[in-house]
Amino acid sequence: MEPEICIYCKQSGTSREHVAPSSLGGNCVLRCVCESCNKALSSVDQALAENSPVALSKVGLTPADAFTTRLGGDASLTDAAGLSLGVRIKNQMKPEVQPQIFLIGNQLQATAVDRDGISQLISYIDKQINQGTLSNIWVKIDATFTAPRFLMHRSNDCFVSAATAESAKRLLNVLQTQWTDVKKGLQSNEVAHTEHHRPSILMKMTFQPNDEFRGVAKIAFETTALLRGSQFVLRPSFDPIREYIKGDLRLPDIDPADSESLAIDQRFVQRMGKDFSLKFTDQHGVLLMAFPFGIFALVVLYGMHYYKVGLATVQDGDTWMRCYEFSYAKDTHGELNSLEFARRALERFPDQLSINKENIPRLLELLKEK
Ligand SMILES: [Zn+2]
Repeated sequence: MEPEICIYCKQSGTSREHVAPSSLGGNCVLRCVCESCNKALSSVDQALAENSPVALSKVGLTPADAFTTRLGGDASLTDAAGLSLGVRIKNQMKPEVQPQIFLIGNQLQATAVDRDGISQLISYIDKQINQGTLSNIWVKIDATFTAPRFLMHRSNDCFVSAATAESAKRLLNVLQTQWTDVKKGLQSNEVAHTEHHRPSILMKMTFQPNDEFRGVAKIAFETTALLRGSQFVLRPSFDPIREYIKGDLRLPDIDPADSESLAIDQRFVQRMGKDFSLKFTDQHGVLLMAFPFGIFALVVLYGMHYYKVGLATVQDGDTWMRCYEFSYAKDTHGELNSLEFARRALERFPDQLSINKENIPRLLELLKEK
């Protein structure tokens, strides 16, 4: 068998590359991306999946029994005592107070929704103390933290938030030196539980529009490789989009008098406004269209975020269209045939297409016969 050539660097290599990022629920895999490009481009997937408007849809729409979603940034809740409690936004936008320990004066105070959270926290700290690595824990300095906090933000990872490096050190020191007693207290006492009747959650999230757009271009480019084969996208006419995805950003000049503008590279990707409604899937989808002057893609994520991607400007003059759909719950993916595409378009937009709903079955029969 011929060795696969990487569609990004054109060197040989294969790795498991998800066309729609796994973090967005995709489970369709390509083999024509080398390991180093796969790794290098994971930050682009991450920006799209965690630090973009799409990330909010992901957390809101992924079913509770699907994979665990992750939102970038921090979410917090200020309790009655003024403590800033770390909150995780779970699937279906369900907020949950994370297991955490504060140092208030010389007292440690733990908070979690249940004993499971406290058990996880205990086993994590036990492990760090046994390995002698507790003092290596990542510290985030944030002036708003009047009491330093030890937060479990994933089941296998913690970090400290504190106003100063000294107060973070003090918290870790109290944990380390008094751990045996603290652990006993945590195991026997009731978990501090505060009721929040009108909770308001503060979310701090950093949007990365240039990386978000590159992530979208990557999905369109890889869907092209999936549907037309890797040789097709290795053609030189795809070099500009290839370079763009790999990081060749060219930011436009911004008029200094226009204080509202941001420099965003929109050579290849544009977000479509809400008046755009060629809806072909409620999931993730890519509609590829080739015209004599070029190839472009319409990428939709969660059935609501629409982007137009210019993939290649000069082609051989072929005209074709392909449509691919990816589930956002890691279960299915597949090509929508033109009949299926027509059925969805007719059923969803009969008015826009000036079709009487009663005629749809007959129209579909006619299309089938063609
Ligand atoms: Zn490569």
